[in-house]
Amino acid sequence: MNTLNNLLHAASFSAQKHKHQRRKGEHGEPYINHPLEVANLLANIGGVQDIDVLMAAILHDTVEDCGVTSDELRLLFGDAVAGYVLEVTDDKSLPKAERKRLQIEHAPHLSPGAKVIKLADKISNINDVTNNPPANWDLERRRAYIEWGFAVVAGLRGVNEPLESHFDLSVAKARALFG
Ligand code: ZN
Repeated sequence: MNTLNNLLHAASFSAQKHKHQRRKGEHGEPYINHPLEVANLLANIGGVQDIDVLMAAILHDTVEDCGVTSDELRLLFGDAVAGYVLEVTDDKSLPKAERKRLQIEHAPHLSPGAKVIKLADKISNINDVTNNPPANWDLERRRAYIEWGFAVVAGLRGVNEPLESHFDLSVAKARALFG
């Protein structure tokens, strides 16, 4: 069973793997701020206490963005954590539009743990696009991103009411801003 020590191992591992990456927003924040925010939303808004889910949240972009393998995650952090990360990892061999379509299609079929991670991920990303959008994203692109996120989250509902309400507030704020 994973413990607090394993959670810190995951945080340190993820920070190392993301160390050369920055968020797309114009402030170019260190990438690790994002997975830490996702884990924090789960714990402190969603009331999630399952350490495997919190570890997977911290690690959720390491396979998709950093070339970490599922075997490596399995070996270091166990099958449950690796499983959640893989559930929320896009197949990068597919074109971007197809990946985005598949996120909507797959959302209802994720495990409850993967659903809450995805939900918190969408909160973090939508808040970023609202508050600190990439410099080259016009209003239309920001709007389209918010509505795509909303469509993905439609398939994630029913697992965590506080996170869903938090998500809805984020979307309402974005829509008010972007019209
Ligand atoms: Zn993410």
